[in-house]
This record gives sequence, structure tokens and C-alpha cells, in this order.
Amino acid sequence: MNISPLVDTHAHLDVSAFDKDRAETIIRALKVGVGNIISVGTNLESSKKAVELSKQYAGVYAAVGIHPHDATVIDKADIAKLGEIAKYSGVVAIGETGLDFHRNYSPKRAQIQALEWQLALSAELGLPIIIHCREAEQDMLDLLCSSMSNNVITQGKCRGVIHCFSGDIDIAKEYLNMGFYLSLGAYIGYPSSASTHDVIRSIPQDRLLVETDCPFLPPQSHRGKRNEPSYLPLTVNILATIRKESYEDVAMASTQNAVQLFHLSLNNNCK
Ligand SMILES: [Zn+2]
Repeated sequence: MNISPLVDTHAHLDVSAFDKDRAETIIRALKVGVGNIISVGTNLESSKKAVELSKQYAGVYAAVGIHPHDATVIDKADIAKLGEIAKYSGVVAIGETGLDFHRNYSPKRAQIQALEWQLALSAELGLPIIIHCREAEQDMLDLLCSSMSNNVITQGKCRGVIHCFSGDIDIAKEYLNMGFYLSLGAYIGYPSSASTHDVIRSIPQDRLLVETDCPFLPPQSHRGKRNEPSYLPLTVNILATIRKESYEDVAMASTQNAVQLFHLSLNNNCK
């Protein structure tokens, strides 16, 4: 049987947790069918590293952005620098950006400002946006709505993804109506996530993406250890079981969606 290659749409390959075995980690992913990995930057430095990785490894792409945790230390000049980095050929998205009112490492105002700048940048460059949202659902929806009414992004045509989506059915609907994709990771298999299965089933197949968010959020069977892209098939398997679909269906749909959203050229060279 021909199994579709997978796309890990959200990995942090630049972090030091991969310093000792980055190349081997990417090879392990290829061996289990994860043909493409988007390495996601969280500040200027890690965004530059993500671009370097996209140049170095076939199948690796980069997203460049400022994480809400880092929002307090940036200004408009940094966004201009981000815009320059975003012009490299391996860059497929702006992000991750967003709002995190759980940890609040940056003040609310700084997070909102950094997100608005990056939404405008994504519109200007025609790149999709990768959004992190934690305990800030209503603020996020309000901000995206007002960006739409100010024509920063266009209703129904906004290209982007809510990564590690964990909202309820109503919030999912709002994002879907705006045109967003919803990305799920290994946390859907945690015992504490059992109550989210209805939401997971409610997401249309053509809006689903999968990710590891590695080195964070490992699958249940690897809790407490480093996560990596080669574990992505475990998540696809759980997702297929929850949605009562076949592994191949979920693999094929999520890969097609990733190709469409991020304009990837698929790396079929998996084995
Ligand atoms: Zn992330």
C-alpha cells in the first residue's frame, strides 16, 4: 500500500535539544514517512536558524516570527528585519506569533502589538500566518475580526493556521468561518484530552493539519521525553481513530492541506 507522506507543520528544529542529533532526527522522520518539516522560529535568532535549516536539509521549510513570549523586546525595526528574513526561498509562513495569557511572559499590550505587526506582514508578503493562542481565545477572535474589518486580512480568504488548537466547538467554528486551518498535535492522545474528541471530529477534513510542536508535547508513550518529527505518525493514528477515518485518509488530507496552505513542494523521498 502507498502511504501518503506526512508534513510536520510545526517543529522547533533550531532549539538546542536537537544540537547533538539534528541530522539523524530528520533522517528518522523521513524513514517513517514524514517527508516535510516546517521549522518554526520564535524570535529573530531562531527564525534565522530555521532559514539556515531549510537551506541545509531537503524537505525542511522555515516559518519566521516572534512568539508572544518574546513580544516585549521587539519594536517596528525588528519587524522590518523579520520581513527581510521572510524573503528567503525556504520561508513558507510568518510565525509563530499569537497571544499567550497563560504564562504572560510579555505584557498583553506588547503581545497584541507584535501580533498586529505580524498579521500585516503576512498580508503584505502573501504568506500564511501561524498562530499560537493560549487562554486568549476571545481576544484573539476579536483581534482577527477587527483586522478583517480594517482589511489587514480578508474575511474568508485569510490564510493561516491555529497551531495546537485546543478550543471548543464554537471557537473552532469561528476560526473555520474566517478561513483558518486547525492544527493538532500529540496532546490529543493525552487522557486529559478525552473531552475534546467531539471538537476534533467537528473539524472538516479539508481544514486539518498535523504537527509535533517538538521538542515539546511528546506523545503519551513518550511523556517526559523530547518530542521529534518521527513521532508524527502516532498522532495521525490517534486522530484517525478519534475521527473514525483511516490512517491513509487523514495522512493524505492533512498533507494536501499543508501543501495547499504553505505552497510546499512535497518531498516523496521518504524511504
Ligand atoms: Zn511552537
